[in-house]
Amino acid sequence: MHARLPQIRYIALVTTLLYLVYTVIEYQIVPNYDIERFLCHAVLVPVTMAIVGILTHFPQYHRAMSLLLILAPIGANCVNVYLNINSGNFSDFAPELYLSIMWIFAISGLRLAHALISATSSCIIILVSSFQADLPSPFLSWHVMWLFSAFSFGFVSALVLERTHYSLYEKTLELAALASRDPLTQLWNREKMSQLFEQERQLATTHKQPISLIMLDIDHFKAVNDEFGHDAGDKVLSHFAQLLKRNVRQQDHVGRFGGEEFFIILPSTIGTDALNVAQQLQQQINQYQFPVVGHKSASIGVTQAQNVHESLTQLMRRADIALYQAKAQGRDNVVYLAATLASA
Ligand code: GH3
Ligand code: MG
Ligand code: MG
Repeated sequence: MHARLPQIRYIALVTTLLYLVYTVIEYQIVPNYDIERFLCHAVLVPVTMAIVGILTHFPQYHRAMSLLLILAPIGANCVNVYLNINSGNFSDFAPELYLSIMWIFAISGLRLAHALISATSSCIIILVSSFQADLPSPFLSWHVMWLFSAFSFGFVSALVLERTHYSLYEKTLELAALASRDPLTQLWNREKMSQLFEQERQLATTHKQPISLIMLDIDHFKAVNDEFGHDAGDKVLSHFAQLLKRNVRQQDHVGRFGGEEFFIILPSTIGTDALNVAQQLQQQINQYQFPVVGHKSASIGVTQAQNVHESLTQLMRRADIALYQAKAQGRDNVVYLAATLASA
């Protein structure tokens, strides 16, 4: 729906303006122009379309907007038939009906299913009224033929549009997924982790919850590449990533910072609990047999956000200091650094 909103907005505006032009022309050509016509074409339709256009700006009213968009052309077609079918010059007014059917399918911005409801209802009303009215038979044949053509062309173009929309939507989702994942490990990349952190920070502000961060760096990883080759190194990175994902909660976010460095955002977690998680991870890593290389260890830094105003960069800087200390203490270590200690 979101992608169609600009279309609906502009079409609503153009339709409103065209109905005002329609009113002027109608006023000039209809012999006994009356208030009924004026109310329908200069007030009812333009006001309805203006409301549709305004509702596009309010997501909570999008259902009402779709309903109006379905009903508006049915209403306009009913009015046309009611005002003109027995007027003797219905052929002057019938083109509005054909255009309306095309409008519903190809222009309105309605989804195919909704357009079908609107166009089919309109066609049934038009056909039933036409066969009941005393229309000359050659005109009736042309009338049915043009109505059928408008419906078929409109339906086909709506079908094509819907398929194009759908495949574009799928491609957008694919691209978004590609743009947010690290291709080797399939973990979140840095940009996505920043977005997730912002979301978590907002939730943490609302619910007054802590956030913690764990940073991990595989020890002596360069040696893996040097001794076993880059492919073996890649395999270790993938297995390491899966190991992390398997051993954290579903609500935790695991990302690859770059190279052999990883980080985990733990929402609703105080620092000491994050420290426990990190120690369990350390155990799991130590017990794990990585392909080709066997045992590997990691150094881990843990910290908790000082408050909800602290940025991911600040938090990572502190976790990095903790990680550096873990390396300095001989690697295969977990170090927790509290916010106050780091800033002291
Ligand atoms: P330390 O214990 O101090 O962390 O030592 P280290 O060897 O793990 O760290 P260092 O920063 O010296 O080396 C990291 C290595 O990671 C160097 C780089 O070639 C390798 N690396 C980075 N990204 C990739 C990758 O995507 N695939 C592979 N196979 N290796 C990578
Ligand atoms: Mg490193
Ligand atoms: Mg390393």
